[in-house]
Amino acid sequence: MITMIYDLHTHSTESDGTLSPSQLIEHAVHQGVNTLALTDHDCTAGLAEAQITAQNLGLNLINGVEISVTWHEHTIHVLGLNIDRKNSQLQTGLSALRSYRNERGHKISDHLEQSGIIGALEGALRYTQGNTLSRTHFARFLLEQGYGKSIQDIFNHYLVRGKPGYVSDHWASLEQALTWIHEAGGVSVVAHPARYKLTRPQLIQFLEEFKGQGGMGLEVISGSQPLDSTDFLVTMANQLKLLGSCGSDYHGVQNTKKIDLGRIPPFPKNCQPVWELWH
Ligand code: AMP
Ligand code: MN
Ligand code: MN
Ligand code: MN
Repeated sequence: MITMIYDLHTHSTESDGTLSPSQLIEHAVHQGVNTLALTDHDCTAGLAEAQITAQNLGLNLINGVEISVTWHEHTIHVLGLNIDRKNSQLQTGLSALRSYRNERGHKISDHLEQSGIIGALEGALRYTQGNTLSRTHFARFLLEQGYGKSIQDIFNHYLVRGKPGYVSDHWASLEQALTWIHEAGGVSVVAHPARYKLTRPQLIQFLEEFKGQGGMGLEVISGSQPLDSTDFLVTMANQLKLLGSCGSDYHGVQNTKKIDLGRIPPFPKNCQPVWELWH
């Protein structure tokens, strides 16, 4: 039996990945991925280029996006899969989030300056090459300047809550994100549910609200969350009648400790996969 490899959560240089959309598709083909979703943070600008390369190389590309949401002061990521990337309501919403990212970037830079780190915004912007600004770009600049040993190390010391470069976030509401995704004909999926700093009861409350507001899926397997949480997530997906999704959350060569594109464990047998909607 031929197993199809689905990887429905990845990033390119249009947000905080290190491979261009074309390079990402080439790497996906090299890794034997059959269906790939490109899901850049709050941006769909890489999809057109990715689609051309995917068509040339015979890979099935799903148009995606990873939307930043603030829920009760927690940042939660919601994927939109199989979206119409030209939908104007979606694009208006994403555009507002990117403006907010730039405003936040100024604040992060000001905060870092108060700790004696000069020129962080300019430094981070060099890494974006004009694309969507993220904390990862600040981390790359700080790494370059010798402020830590690794990106992870830099996050832990400068960019997370309680550290000098942290700015409290105000992203889209859950309702907004779900509306944009559904208006664009997409499937809404909670990204890496086991990675948030939520207690189990808080996570369950979030998932119930997500379902109650029309949310459709749950990433039961993700390269950026502990794999021992899969059983719990499958149980939650089944209880709440959410479809299951899986993705590496691949950001490119920089994250050496994370799993490679397409190298996600087999999809759980007792879970209904999101891609059944697309057959
Ligand atoms: P932002 O959306 O700009 O706040 O940046 C969030 C991104 O930073 C995530 O998508 C990850 O790629 C990365 N990130 C967040 N936390 C960490 C961490 N502790 N270590 C390394 N990368 C992280
Ligand atoms: Mn990221
Ligand atoms: Mn994420
Ligand atoms: Mn991601």
